[in-house]
Amino acid sequence: MKEKADILLAGGTVITVDEQRRIYRDGALAMRGNEIVAVGKRADLVARYEAKHTRDCRNKLIMPGFVNSHLHFYHTMHRGLAPEGLGGWLWSNFVHGKVATILTAEDEIIGGLIVLLETIKSGTTTILEAGSYNPAAVIEGISRIGIRGLMGRRSFDQAILGHSMLLEDTDTCLRENEKFLKTYRDGYNGGLLKACVDVVGLGRCTNRLYLESKKMADDYDTTLNLHLAAMTEEVTDTRMKTGYRPVENLYRIGALGRNVCLVHMVQVTDREIRMLKETQTNVIHCPSTALKLNYELSSKGRFPEMVEHGVNVGIGSDASDCSNYADMIRTMYLAAVLPKDYRNDAGISCAEQAIEMATINGAKAIGMDKQIGSLEAGKNADIILINMRRPEWYPNFSEVQNLVYSASGDAVETVYIDGRLVMDYRRVLTVDEDEVMDRCAVLGEQVLARSGLQVPGKWPIL
Ligand SMILES: [Zn+2]
Repeated sequence: MKEKADILLAGGTVITVDEQRRIYRDGALAMRGNEIVAVGKRADLVARYEAKHTRDCRNKLIMPGFVNSHLHFYHTMHRGLAPEGLGGWLWSNFVHGKVATILTAEDEIIGGLIVLLETIKSGTTTILEAGSYNPAAVIEGISRIGIRGLMGRRSFDQAILGHSMLLEDTDTCLRENEKFLKTYRDGYNGGLLKACVDVVGLGRCTNRLYLESKKMADDYDTTLNLHLAAMTEEVTDTRMKTGYRPVENLYRIGALGRNVCLVHMVQVTDREIRMLKETQTNVIHCPSTALKLNYELSSKGRFPEMVEHGVNVGIGSDASDCSNYADMIRTMYLAAVLPKDYRNDAGISCAEQAIEMATINGAKAIGMDKQIGSLEAGKNADIILINMRRPEWYPNFSEVQNLVYSASGDAVETVYIDGRLVMDYRRVLTVDEDEVMDRCAVLGEQVLARSGLQVPGKWPIL
């Protein structure tokens, strides 16, 4: 008597990212409801399971959906509006001063849906969003897309280097963050997107806000997410204010821990890496932003050292106006190749590590590694199918190398999140893609008009 399954994905190569990191060629995966019930060789699973639906996955790569550990919604409406000459603080002050202050809740919802369409279409099934101005309206407006993950409220209580736009006092930050957390800790309307604690970081938070936010994350058993140690100016500023470097400062006050995600982390010393390891703090690497906004990643990056010391490193695509893409395969590519060059050592990083960063490490960073991040029996069915019947995958000696070094998110064909078919043959099934893009174009024109900005560019547009 065969066991019952709802769906059997049969044939193709399965990259499991399980404990032994097994890869099955001519593999298969059985799903029941929202759960993975078995992963293995096709012949074994076909003999064991009777599925309601068997999907022919020959020439497909079957792997865990990506965990995009750093993403913004509201920045989508600034895509292409910041002059390229602005990096670091100047970029941040420009976009937050000129554009963020004039955004409506609808701008954020539609911007959120756009970036989520982009991210689902390139294989992401879980996100860690970095703070919204209208979090209640946004979580209610976007949850129907079916993404898993965490989002919070954008908050900061300290102005530095001219960045004071939308600053709040500490009590307001804490009160409003807790209100959002209380209301949406279990998501909206059965959705998989849940509330966490977001503060901006980057020296824009007082130590009281850091510490009380960490306590709040502990009390509600969720994640504290913040940007840190991105730029030299931030390090100088934090040292002037506290006497310590950014990571040292958080260590000293007790704001680090296994439920803390620190994003960017380019400016980090050996001593600070030991503090991260000791406290089991998670690091989220965003190489595309670090390169475009000149955070000095290619000269100061210490991500191989973090990995070597056992610090959990995830990766994120960051925002649509500083990255400017949400494709985790392109992000994995940068995470894999950059250290080879900046350490002048081709063996210091590898494709396998980049895949771990994009899957199981991201899941661990947000406390979901028992649930997602790999394809294993008992885990939730967050699964992507990638089409390998494309020239860039031939010859296909190494699916791992082809995925990280040759492919792009465009090859992702099908996405299951929590067992639900969210995208099939590149069409997202949960929202109307054309409707969202059309609305984004209309709202974008309105944002441009309200901002009074000229679209930057060196060439005449006729
Ligand atoms: Zn960010």
